[in-house]
Amino acid sequence: MNPYLKNLRKIEFVITNACTGHCKHCSEGDHNTCGEHIDPQTAADAVRRIAAAYDIQTVMTFGGEPLLYPDAVCAIMTAAQELAIPKRQIITNGYFSKDPARIRAVAEGLAESGVNDLLLSVDAFHQETIPLDVVKLFATEVQRAGIPLRLQPAWLVSVDHDNSYNRKTRDVLGSFTDMGIAVNEGNIIFPEGNAAKYLAGYFTHEIPENPYVEDPRDVRCASFSPNGDVLGGNVYERDILEIIRKYAP
Ligand code: SF4
Repeated sequence: MNPYLKNLRKIEFVITNACTGHCKHCSEGDHNTCGEHIDPQTAADAVRRIAAAYDIQTVMTFGGEPLLYPDAVCAIMTAAQELAIPKRQIITNGYFSKDPARIRAVAEGLAESGVNDLLLSVDAFHQETIPLDVVKLFATEVQRAGIPLRLQPAWLVSVDHDNSYNRKTRDVLGSFTDMGIAVNEGNIIFPEGNAAKYLAGYFTHEIPENPYVEDPRDVRCASFSPNGDVLGGNVYERDILEIIRKYAP
């Protein structure tokens, strides 16, 4: 076993960098609404191969907006469900279609494939470009399909800081009260990508911890990019377990 991955417990997929949102706080900068995405079968096979060798506890999918490519999300989650991986998560902004039939079908597909923790990104930043009524329709369908759902807001400076964005975020969260959806603590925006560009004036105090960095000598999460890059290799070119074996920081 590669000693640098002895604590590998999580697999995550950036399904695509394409996104329907254009958020001022996005750590990845600007997005197109369509683009490269991970191949569903390659991704599902990678989950099976890794889980055969490691005690994987969590499989996570996000983006961009992962539900622009629900087939990829569902293939990954179906594999995770078959393997009885306990946590099967998706982070979505909830806006991938305006068509109610399509929204319902995608929610039902996620339920069938075993998603058991859906984090819905809603806050002042997302709702500058993402229509809340469509997101609420998706949330309703997710509830109807029986998927556990939590709201996942992004906060500027801190959860308690008084600024116009956080005030708007509290309003957005409040508008979900009738739906009885749990609110996660969310995350503090890190000055990277668009956030560094558009919100620089707010990062004059202590910089929050970057939530996206992990110790390269103790990798706990195998993170796949939309082009198949993972741990210094590419899953379209080499077997994932060989990539893991050869990994070095
Ligand atoms: S923060 Fe999320 S929803 Fe907003 S542009 Fe970035 S990836 Fe898209």
